[in-house]
Amino acid sequence: MRTQVLIIGGGATGTGLVRDLALRGVDCILVDTRDLNAGASGANHGLLHSGGRYAKSDPHSAQECKEEGDILKKLAPHVIEDTGGFFLAVEGDDEKYIADFEGLCRNATIDVAKVDPKDAMEMEPAISRKTIACYSVPDANIDPFRLGLDNVSQAVSLGSRFMRRTRLAGFDMENGTITAARMVNMRTGEEFKIVADQYVNAGGAWAGEVAAMAGAEIGMLYAKGTLLITHDRLTKRVINRLRPPGDGDILVPGGTVSILGTTSVRVDSLDNIQPTIAEVDVNVEQGMPMVPELATTRYIRAYAGVRPLLTGTADSDRNASRGVALMGHEREGLKNFISITGGKLTTYRLMAEMAGDLVCERLGVSASCLTRTEPLPAADPWMWSDPGHAARGWLEKHDQGDVLLCECEMVPKSGVDRMLGTFDMSKDKPGLKALGRRSRVGKGSCQGTFCSLRLTSYLYDKDYLHGDEGVRNLREFLEERWKGQRTILWGMAESQAELQEAFYCGLMGIELGR
Ligand SMILES: Cc1cc2nc3c(=O)[nH]c(=O)nc-3n(C[C@H](O)[C@H](O)[C@H](O)COP(=O)(O)OP(=O)(O)OC[C@H]3O[C@@H](n4cnc5c(N)ncnc54)[C@H](O)[C@@H]3O)c2cc1C
Repeated sequence: MRTQVLIIGGGATGTGLVRDLALRGVDCILVDTRDLNAGASGANHGLLHSGGRYAKSDPHSAQECKEEGDILKKLAPHVIEDTGGFFLAVEGDDEKYIADFEGLCRNATIDVAKVDPKDAMEMEPAISRKTIACYSVPDANIDPFRLGLDNVSQAVSLGSRFMRRTRLAGFDMENGTITAARMVNMRTGEEFKIVADQYVNAGGAWAGEVAAMAGAEIGMLYAKGTLLITHDRLTKRVINRLRPPGDGDILVPGGTVSILGTTSVRVDSLDNIQPTIAEVDVNVEQGMPMVPELATTRYIRAYAGVRPLLTGTADSDRNASRGVALMGHEREGLKNFISITGGKLTTYRLMAEMAGDLVCERLGVSASCLTRTEPLPAADPWMWSDPGHAARGWLEKHDQGDVLLCECEMVPKSGVDRMLGTFDMSKDKPGLKALGRRSRVGKGSCQGTFCSLRLTSYLYDKDYLHGDEGVRNLREFLEERWKGQRTILWGMAESQAELQEAFYCGLMGIELGR
């Protein structure tokens, strides 16, 4: 296979870069060992940072977040809910930090305004009655799944290719030049090569591993973060605790839920990243003083991801720079290898622009970046259910033959058909996990109890699944959901999990025959 640029990693950075280059007329292949958003880009808080969180610890990143947030709100409004945000302090919080906050935000050009605590409590009834200071900032939430799909979709429409379940296994090299990338198809085990003019490492936390294959070194530290999803939306705005960044101090509302996070725990390996009970407890304990309802609310899921941070940027993981790291690897004598890592979801477009500029300089392409000014087109607005508005939207649009396969998140048969249409079935049959990454299937309060079975039978009916493929698929999907449920088993979540167990294990014996 031949292309101008091979991009390794289908997270926000890689998907942003493939669009950036496609818009400049550069042909690319984007690969991911698993799928779109399988790394940190599918396991984050979904906060489009105003920059307030980094105003003290990392003013440069704070300003980048502010500028990129403004650009994305203008050019990709369909993936953003512009909620606004509060930073609030409660009795006992550090008074110096509170006093400095407004000035630090202004230095980073963040639009900050003091809010009287009484007004804040009226505007957000769920926040603590012990609130002693509050500032409003332009925080928002962003849907990383939709963002990734929309970026790839436009790149593909311009001729670039995306290959999921395709792992980079190594490079063939000659005198500091990569002559080919050795790839493995993770579904079939088939090995093949991709030859490119430039190779870009957009491997996120895996960037060190990818660079090592080219003989380069990037010092990565693995800071795992755990988050919790509530059953209901608790606030209108993003609520941040006005204190130095710590555990459980951000609550991001999105659609019908809120997401609480985040812990930061150093891990040695990127394998088997899962939330633990201790991390869940810390989030709840630390979140409660800010929003007391977090103690009693129903949680539907916990999940964890690893931040792509660079070593040597600070004394602690919390203070490690969230800045962008672009490396041309010239010092290591490499001529056609680039790494782009660090950064944040909020700054993904900027990261893609920076890497795109370097790629184009090396290729001798003079076209400049368009993503700073061109709106991001929505791939297929009807493929996505819009939480909270979905029922009305679906009823308005649906035809008599259409049926809902996922009732919690309103994903209809027609939406699944459209998703299936985006795969090349002869080479890449999607399973339930892949459909879950491209829609809200399984993400609602029943966590796949009803929709996974319906979806599986629909895929059999459509002749996409044969033999025991569907049963294997179902098991994998439910195991993935279980990882997110097992740490929050109290109250309603426990009853829900018991229903799921009775249904799939008691009735269908799905755990048998392994
Ligand atoms: C818990 C947590 C909360 C966060 N919250 C926020 C937030 O609220 N707001 C914000 O702006 N940022 C947030 N971030 C940061 C943000 O999620 C990341 O900075 C961003 O998603 C990184 O994107 P990426 O594409 O660089 O990396 P990733 O999304 O990790 O993508 C890297 C991809 O490379 C693939 N890959 C690795 N090795 C290979 C190989 N050999 N061959 C092929 N593919 C390979 C992986 O499968 C993966 O999909 C958070 C991060 C975490 C962990």
